[in-house]
Amino acid sequence: MAAPLMGQMMTDPLLVSSLITHAARHSGSTEIVSKRVEGDLHRYGWRDAELRSRKLAQALARLGLQEGERVATLAWNGYRHLEIYYGVAGSGLVTHTINPRLFPEQIAWIANDAQDAALFFEATFLPLVEKLLPALKSVRHFVLMTDRAHMPAQSAIPNLLCYDELVEAEDGRYAWPTFDENRAACICYTSGTTGNPKGAVYSHRSSVLHSMGAAMPDAMDCSSRDVVLPVVPMFHVNAWGIPYTAALVGFKLVMPGPHLDGKSLYELFENEKVTFSAGVPTVWLGLLNYVKANGLKFSTFKRTVIGGSACPPAMMKTLQEDYGVEVIHAWGMTEMSPLGTLSKLTARQLERSPEEQRHALEKQGKVIYGVDMAVVDDEGRELPWDGDSAGNLLVRGHWVIDRYYNLEDSPLTTVDGRPGWFPTGDVGTIDADGFLQITDRSKDVIKSGGEWISSIELENIAMAHPDVFEAAVIAARHPKWDERPLLVVVKKPDAALTREQMLAFFEGRIAKWQIPDDVVFTGEIPHTATGKMMKLKLREQFKDHKLPGI
Ligand code: ADP
Repeated sequence: MAAPLMGQMMTDPLLVSSLITHAARHSGSTEIVSKRVEGDLHRYGWRDAELRSRKLAQALARLGLQEGERVATLAWNGYRHLEIYYGVAGSGLVTHTINPRLFPEQIAWIANDAQDAALFFEATFLPLVEKLLPALKSVRHFVLMTDRAHMPAQSAIPNLLCYDELVEAEDGRYAWPTFDENRAACICYTSGTTGNPKGAVYSHRSSVLHSMGAAMPDAMDCSSRDVVLPVVPMFHVNAWGIPYTAALVGFKLVMPGPHLDGKSLYELFENEKVTFSAGVPTVWLGLLNYVKANGLKFSTFKRTVIGGSACPPAMMKTLQEDYGVEVIHAWGMTEMSPLGTLSKLTARQLERSPEEQRHALEKQGKVIYGVDMAVVDDEGRELPWDGDSAGNLLVRGHWVIDRYYNLEDSPLTTVDGRPGWFPTGDVGTIDADGFLQITDRSKDVIKSGGEWISSIELENIAMAHPDVFEAAVIAARHPKWDERPLLVVVKKPDAALTREQMLAFFEGRIAKWQIPDDVVFTGEIPHTATGKMMKLKLREQFKDHKLPGI
């Protein structure tokens, strides 16, 4: 048999370095603006960023780091962190961004699990790293991400290196190496709400494909006309890929550093003419409060991606109607780099009533090319796309993991007998338009007398009450129904909301049997290191809560 005709196209591997090379050549003077830990604003262009990334690659080689070794960061969103993304991965090493908000023991655990050979960190985290020092078994080099003038006079860390000095000592005569696109570019760990965190190892190929997917019009819809401020940290699933997409598209990047309060963010949005942003819902709570309290408006900010946990419809409404900001609701997870679905309306949906359109946009949206999804019953049979049949959500695709770092067992399972699907641990429905709606994480679902009640749906209703700042719904034990919903509410300052008023607010908005049995008011809802409500902790806190009438 004759050999099949092969494509006769160039086959350059999809490497992360190709993104920044492209940005340097074609958007070289487009700015990257960073608020530094030092307090000032730093500006330069993609051409400068690429040159410094190459110098960093030279410095890493000089330090003796070997191909494939892991280089960890404890750092905010800023240009030095960006250089590390490219300098490390581009030279064949692997970036490991660590979330500094994790417990110190967890940080040490993941640094040891990943066998990090070097740790780059910002001055904010010097005390943390000094404390962790005895526990960090594999780290040979500690680099403080600052200039000579800001280096501490003394430190418990022996041979503490200065980032700027390392970079500036090199001449930049360095060519990015070419290697197999399936080699690791970066590792991100899941936040480990149950058990130890698990490592997801992204390849160069998956990272480049994810960046292309993210930029698409039905995803983040980014162009070189955008000015993008990722509020989502670079240690939270690579800021959802924005540092890579930025280079691919060549847009202006605005990095907020450690300054994430409403006032600092608002000033950056305005001064740098930000058009697009991304972050978890809790971030927008703070920013919106500031903007509202001071009677401000946004002059250039037009779109934002909100994800990481369900975006309350009330927040979407405020952003859209009061501030003219389009909200793109997104769903994803560490195991999928992280983008899975985004809510952008199709032509057919645009023909429907405003009410129907709003309802669709509140869902988590459609997959983009590169990812497929299915909801299945407990036997792994695919459920219909009727917007009603809720089941376990499974995914597969070019930027979905097929195993965890250092773990033997494959997490993958089947859909209708077809192998190769990753179980997300989420429960949801898919409608006839292909729109996913997450109803819960499987462990947060409230199982009341054999029926499931969606905690997200109840939280969304509570959040629509003008006196509610934040709301969580958890399962409380019930002798007859097994579990019943308990609503935990943080009121807005000075609000006089009562339990009865809160419960009355649910009437007519949801079936009677799904209305929470009780309300507790609390000063604060605990959040995870990535800004999600910590339901595990809430369940512990209220495990002895007696529902009325029991
Ligand atoms: P993180 O580091 O943010 O905790 P995870 O990978 O642990 O990352 O979080 C992924 C999970 O977050 C998803 O499985 C889902 O439960 C939840 N999630 C993400 N986005 C949304 C969303 N838009 N709506 C509801 N849940 C979401």
